[in-house]
Amino acid sequence: EKEKHFLWSNVFYNDVIRVKMRKEKEMKDSMESALNNDEFSVYLQPKVSLENGNVVGAEALVRWIRPNKEMIYPDEFIPLFEKTGFIIKLDLYVFEKVCQTLRKWIDENRYIIPISVNLSRNHLHFKDFLKEYKKIQEQYRIPSEYIELEITETVVFENLQILKGVIDEIHAMGYRCSMDDFGSGYSSLNVLKEIPVDILKIDRIFFNCEQTDRGDKIIQSVIGLAKKLTIDTVAEGVETIPQVEQLKEMACDIVQGYVFDKPMPISDFESKYKDNPKLF
Ligand code: C2E
Ligand code: MG
Ligand code: MG
Ligand code: MG
Repeated sequence: EKEKHFLWSNVFYNDVIRVKMRKEKEMKDSMESALNNDEFSVYLQPKVSLENGNVVGAEALVRWIRPNKEMIYPDEFIPLFEKTGFIIKLDLYVFEKVCQTLRKWIDENRYIIPISVNLSRNHLHFKDFLKEYKKIQEQYRIPSEYIELEITETVVFENLQILKGVIDEIHAMGYRCSMDDFGSGYSSLNVLKEIPVDILKIDRIFFNCEQTDRGDKIIQSVIGLAKKLTIDTVAEGVETIPQVEQLKEMACDIVQGYVFDKPMPISDFESKYKDNPKLF
């Protein structure tokens, strides 16, 4: 009986793998044409200041919307795009959309907030990749203070020396730089010591799981530590009002999470927030 179960689960497992591989191949075959056909869409999620309740920023998050309207989330395609190298193109595309949006806000004389974009680990292998960013920024004439780059903590371990140089360059360009997914990787404290980031994004794992007294103390300490280093803190993936209140008490600076809004298309974000940034 046990053996039978094992066999069946094995067949099932192989099916799962096969479906996954077919899907990967489909994505790989169509990614280039998808980019040309505008199938990648930039969504924005607000960041809310706990000091005054204002929307003080937004993060750009990419979605792949297939011609049949199926939406694919980044967790499904980013690993593949990193493997193939296509992520470099996609990140630049997202950055260009963000610059376009900021230019529109500036031209329309609207309330302007900085937008952050995620930077794949792949970029770090190319020495001059930031020149491409600079070129796009200049093309759209965007003041540097409206641009923020997010680098995930998990890259640091492999590339500490390279990353140090990149952060210096980012600062020389006048952009702000945040450490994404802080606390989910290996080397959190060493990162803080070596890498002078401006913003710390506390990983959503701290807020998704059951919150414990022990966990709360860790969050409180991370916020305190950041404060000592004059680094701003953003709590990511916050879903409930009690969490917001608690973070406010802990003197966390900014909250980003479903409690306020999910990521949404740029046009929705514009009609909802741009002239009315106050959330609570
Ligand atoms: P991330 O940069 O850490 O982005 C935050 C993720 O948390 C987003 O997932 C966002 O939708 C999700 N999130 C926000 N608030 C909540 C909440 O209250 N609850 C829960 N459960 N989730 C919340 P998303 O959009 O699926 O993106 C996943 C990851 O994919 C991002 O994590 C980022 O690492 C990567 N990514 C997204 N867009 C890009 C891009 O343009 N370029 C690159 N290189 N990576 C990207
Ligand atoms: Mg991010
Ligand atoms: Mg994150
Ligand atoms: Mg992430």
